[in-house]
Amino acid sequence: MANIVAIVGRPNVGKSTLFNRLIERRQAIMDNESGVTRDRHYGYSEWNGKSFTVIDTGGYVEGSDDIFEGAIRTQVKEALQEANVILFMVDCITGLHGLDQDFANVVREVGKPVIIVANKADNTEKSYAANEFYALGLTDSIYAVSSVSGSGTGDLLDETVSHFAEEVEDEEKDEVPRIAIVGRPNVGKSSFLNALLGKDRTIVTNIAGTTRDAIDSRYNLFGKDFILTDTAGIRKKAKVKEDIEFYSVLRAIQALQDSDVCIVMLDAENGLEAQDMNIIGLAHKYRKGSIIMVNKWDLYEKDTKSADEYKKHIAEKLGPLGYIPVVFTSVINKQRIFKAIELALKVAENKNKRISTSVLNAKMLKEIENYPPPSVRGKHIHIKYITQLPTKTPAFAFFCNHPKDITESYERFLINKLRSHFDFEGVPIKAIIKQK
Ligand code: GDP
Ligand code: GDP
Repeated sequence: MANIVAIVGRPNVGKSTLFNRLIERRQAIMDNESGVTRDRHYGYSEWNGKSFTVIDTGGYVEGSDDIFEGAIRTQVKEALQEANVILFMVDCITGLHGLDQDFANVVREVGKPVIIVANKADNTEKSYAANEFYALGLTDSIYAVSSVSGSGTGDLLDETVSHFAEEVEDEEKDEVPRIAIVGRPNVGKSSFLNALLGKDRTIVTNIAGTTRDAIDSRYNLFGKDFILTDTAGIRKKAKVKEDIEFYSVLRAIQALQDSDVCIVMLDAENGLEAQDMNIIGLAHKYRKGSIIMVNKWDLYEKDTKSADEYKKHIAEKLGPLGYIPVVFTSVINKQRIFKAIELALKVAENKNKRISTSVLNAKMLKEIENYPPPSVRGKHIHIKYITQLPTKTPAFAFFCNHPKDITESYERFLINKLRSHFDFEGVPIKAIIKQK
């Protein structure tokens, strides 16, 4: 279930400050001048065990001269329609502002749950000023917070997550895997889908999606059923200025949250860019499978070892996310496009993989014996047994006499060994150290 929380409001009310707090990047990149370029506009957050994506709309819309110019207004509205909850931010220090009313009008038309965040309520006196914003006539939910100090944000988050739909236990075994195709404009997403459609061995039915125009198609290839979510149509729909990527990013995030495996498409000549890294990082945090599809390989000038070098370069950038496989394609030449799908399906299988406790212990206890966790304060740290937890994405419990004394680097060792014994290519896996 996709949960998207959008922060809106006029410039300088403190949106990016709150955003940074929610995504736990305390080093906010701020500037008193509005319209500063920010390096990131969306990120992963969790509250009371519920995960969601936060979007700082200021990063997308404030740069424009007139936020309320018709086309942009439509754009903002459409984008907000993708959010589950809107945090409408106002400023207690400056009080009600003309632009607040303009924003309120847009937000009202969207008709999503709205919470007014009366920011800069740094002390009790200032928080009284929050009442003034009832005049906007938007909602009864007004939360006075101080984004700088964090005060009031706990209650705000309680209210925010209360609007999310209940997670349904979807542990149904042979559910059809959902694959989302994401990537920056022009990397070849639509061409890829068209190429897949062109083959007579695919059977396609359009499924009326839960979202309005993310197009879900059901396929059968290599005897396997799967659903592809296309985010390519987005750009065609967003006719407004090129630099407003807000809408397309939202769609990609939503598709990603609803998927099992994400195909992140790149243009070989541009390589892995910051935006791709953001999406890949998000997929990892949501514990989705991923593959990287380096497309337009036909245009890339290469010699025999180019693919290996390219892979190495990507692996360096990915760092700890280096478990994500890479495939080089040319959609135009229909080169390896089915291999890309096969790889995504393989990752979907890896994600559902269950290792029996006996096999797990046979392999892993031997590794642990060869390289035991270091003793702490003369205490012998002993891992007794291991079992895979019944989670949607693989997680392994290591039962230990002193779980707190297992270091992060030892956890990494355990994960590396899990990966070396069992094929979890493309899948984020977790080691959880538990008390025995
Ligand atoms: P945005 O344009 O809405 O994203 O606003 P920013 O997050 O860039 O914040 C604008 C200014 O307000 C910055 O100088 C922040 O330090 C300041 N600010 C943000 N939150 C608070 C707050 O809770 N209290 C006070 N006093 N200042 C704040
Ligand atoms: P989208 O925005 O990601 O959906 O990208 P499109 O599918 O619309 O493709 C953008 C452009 O790249 C089009 O002109 C395609 O013909 C071209 N293109 C797509 N895949 C390839 C490829 O593998 N090689 C080359 N040379 N061009 C490609």
